[in-house]
Amino acid sequence: MKKINILGAMVDRVTMEEAVEKALGFLKEEGSHAIYTPNSEIVMAAYRDPSFCEVLNSGDLIIADGIGLVHASKILKEPLPERVAGFDLASRLIRESADGAHSLYFFGGRPGVAQKAIANLKAEYPNLSVSGFSDGYFDAEKEKTIIADIKEKKPDILFVCLGAPKQEKWIAAHRDELGVPLCLGVGGSLDVWAGEVERAPEKYQKAGLEWLYRLMKQPSRFFRMLELPKFGLTVLFKGKAVQTKGKRHE
Ligand code: UDP
Repeated sequence: MKKINILGAMVDRVTMEEAVEKALGFLKEEGSHAIYTPNSEIVMAAYRDPSFCEVLNSGDLIIADGIGLVHASKILKEPLPERVAGFDLASRLIRESADGAHSLYFFGGRPGVAQKAIANLKAEYPNLSVSGFSDGYFDAEKEKTIIADIKEKKPDILFVCLGAPKQEKWIAAHRDELGVPLCLGVGGSLDVWAGEVERAPEKYQKAGLEWLYRLMKQPSRFFRMLELPKFGLTVLFKGKAVQTKGKRHE
């Protein structure tokens, strides 16, 4: 599968349909698989932290969750076919599991959020097979219980919603032990399924302005979003060098 090197992160050049096909294919294969969904902020974090970059690149499918990555791919002259939002991919996989064919486990979010999300999803898809859930705030002791619960419930798909880089590091550290066929790191998706956070209206998504909508709704994201111009400038000035030499240049 074709990949593009964006500041060291190896992003798969796939459409949404190809990503869905790939994800469903993982469920038929042996072993555990991980899908990561970086946006520009996360790629910038990986550029700064080589150990996180390695974690990100250990994913079996790495999709471009943010429009910034699509713009970057054009600057780097290897255009990504489209943005593949992690939330959209996760929602598609839930729809593909509507007949109960794949069991799902939801891990992350504040206490109570996963239950709300599951109730909403079950109202939409009554035959959905949900094998378990846990909130995403834990100490070492609670983490052991969560891991034991996932191992016991043996879901086919595990949605890990702890935010980046925590979720990617968590999946990379535990995927072999858990043996779940497919783990996805999908940030704030549980908040959206639970109705706690609104997804940007389609016109914002289509215009590539979902980041602006999120900023208006959650102004506390402002400082995180300062990473976006830094990302753009880094791609402009260092992106090609990283691409051709395959390593970071300070
Ligand atoms: N979260 C969590 N445990 C933590 C930190 C965060 O479960 O220790 C959850 C948080 O409740 C939220 C999600 O992770 O639901 C992160 O959401 P955000 O919108 O920041 O994620 P993004 O998709 O932007 O990475």
